[in-house]
Amino acid sequence: MNHSQGRLANKVAIITGAGCVGPGWGNGRAIAMRFAQEGARVFAVDKDMDAMTDTLALIKEFNGDVTPYTCDVTDSKAIQELVAACVKQYGTVDILVNNVGGPVRGGPIELSEENWDAQININLKTVFLMCKYVMPIMEAKGAGSIVNISSTSGIRFSGAPQVGYAAAKAGVIQFGRVVAVEYAKKGIRVNSVLPGLLHTPLVEAVLAGAQAGGDAEGLLKRRQARIPMSFMGDGRDTANAVLFLASDEARFITGTELVVDGGMSAKCD
Ligand code: NAD
Repeated sequence: MNHSQGRLANKVAIITGAGCVGPGWGNGRAIAMRFAQEGARVFAVDKDMDAMTDTLALIKEFNGDVTPYTCDVTDSKAIQELVAACVKQYGTVDILVNNVGGPVRGGPIELSEENWDAQININLKTVFLMCKYVMPIMEAKGAGSIVNISSTSGIRFSGAPQVGYAAAKAGVIQFGRVVAVEYAKKGIRVNSVLPGLLHTPLVEAVLAGAQAGGDAEGLLKRRQARIPMSFMGDGRDTANAVLFLASDEARFITGTELVVDGGMSAKCD
């Protein structure tokens, strides 16, 4: 990740979930880092300031421009304060990356009603709320780019029954298409990135849990075996896709999805 070309020079980017559950390349951390490398002014948002420690340190290493901000992006009032704080700091918002999300296991019988609501809230409502309060700024200046992090679980059965997650991530994709068409003439582009099976700190945490049960290696092997490219990407692969869609290089691209999964969703088995 050392090929800075200023592809986002001076763009102000809000990235939600810019921290990470552990050391390594989660999606939000990698996106924040990659954006800063390309000259963006990064407004890095996470509900947990400690989770952003490594993200901030990595960006400061090359004197990148980053402002950390603590906010729970399921909270509408807190989001309004977040957006005001970003505008106060940087004057505007050019790019919004909605990255916060995550799965809870369970089909309709196992998943509690509370967990269903929580899955829709964290994976889909956060996207709606962030757009609701950031888009007026983009609309007023006739320009903006929004990238929503969905998942291949939003278009395929992932192998794990996660109905709330899958339904919410599918919702993110269709939300993006509708808003993209509605705002195309106003200069706002909206796209989704769909990561597949990644080797992120979150997966490491799951592996550590599996290790306690004795089959961490088996779990890793089973994941890898499903990917045509035979390795798991990580947050940096997501970040490069998000960078492209967020940048002016994608000026004619809106209302679409970019799958980052080593070919997995192209297979029929
Ligand atoms: P992560 O869990 O490593 O990091 C996400 C960050 O979001 C954490 O620092 C956490 O504190 C923060 N966060 C959680 N809830 C928040 C809230 N309400 N408000 C503000 N911040 C909050 O994440 P990750 O595994 O890199 O996943 C990021 C996104 O990528 C998610 O939308 C996820 O569904 C998607 N995704 C991940 C994978 C994968 O394999 N990791 C695959 C497909 C899609």
